Amino acid sequence: MRILLQFPEGLKQEALKHAKKLEAEGNEVVVSATPTFGACDLAIDEAKNIKADKLVHFGHAEFHHVDFNVEYVSYPIDADLSILERSLEPLRPFGKIGLMTTIQHIHQLDSVADFFRKNGKEVVIGKPYGFAKKSGQILGCDAGSAASIDRNVEALVYFGGGMFHPLGALLMTTKPFLLIEPFQGSVEFIDKYREIYAKRSRGKILASIDAKNIGILVTTKNGQNNMPMARILKNKVENAGLGLKAAILVSNTFDFGSINNMLEFDAFVNTACPRIAIDDTDRLRKPLLSANELNEVLRIQAELKASKK
Ligand code: SF4
Repeated sequence: MRILLQFPEGLKQEALKHAKKLEAEGNEVVVSATPTFGACDLAIDEAKNIKADKLVHFGHAEFHHVDFNVEYVSYPIDADLSILERSLEPLRPFGKIGLMTTIQHIHQLDSVADFFRKNGKEVVIGKPYGFAKKSGQILGCDAGSAASIDRNVEALVYFGGGMFHPLGALLMTTKPFLLIEPFQGSVEFIDKYREIYAKRSRGKILASIDAKNIGILVTTKNGQNNMPMARILKNKVENAGLGLKAAILVSNTFDFGSINNMLEFDAFVNTACPRIAIDDTDRLRKPLLSANELNEVLRIQAELKASKK
């Protein structure tokens, strides 16, 4: 069997080990060297191009159904739970807490919940919906299991590595939000980022008030492609009665240096991974808006136009 292996960036260092193992079982193995951002980003075009019989995708659970033979290989990581002791003091004011983590630590979530229950907390774990598959699991673009319990808890607790996943959940919730990061050894409330990102969003909208030419970014990544949304936004921009022009700009992985060369555009709108308009805004010289932010820009432009009549 000819197999294409695909690893997220953090696991690419193990590609050779897995390739040799599958070769020893009699397979022909090729490794994708393309940047990989999630199971929304399956290397199916590459697999078809090299006529692979199967794509083996490491490190993520299934995100969406695709019409190709894909095997998902989970990559559970056992984080040191001793750090939980240090979260008891900051969580002292809160009796009822909501727990969440990523797919890498979902097998540890019951142990984390047991720890808090033994220490007198009522623990709530949200059911998955959207792209997440397990209770308490969040993705960078899907914090449904956190948002669904936000009203029922006094504080939210994320256990796991990095800021990428908890930031998405933070921005979709309202309660005090504790980050327990076992790899950095940090235990801290990260609520301040709600206001920081709200200010950034307002800044992008204000910087787009005079925008006349809008570039609408579409990716060909199979789980992120949203051409219908791009068409809707293009029509909306050009039919808003504001004399604006729009073009749809397509790429697989956006090269922001290349997009910065498109000097005719005054602002860009993202229709790909929703985190791009949150995390990558500093990489473009022009504002990079979400669809909601674009709507706000159009609303303000219309108001300004009406006030000048
Ligand atoms: S956050 Fe972005 S990269 Fe991650 S799974 Fe969602 S769409 Fe894919």
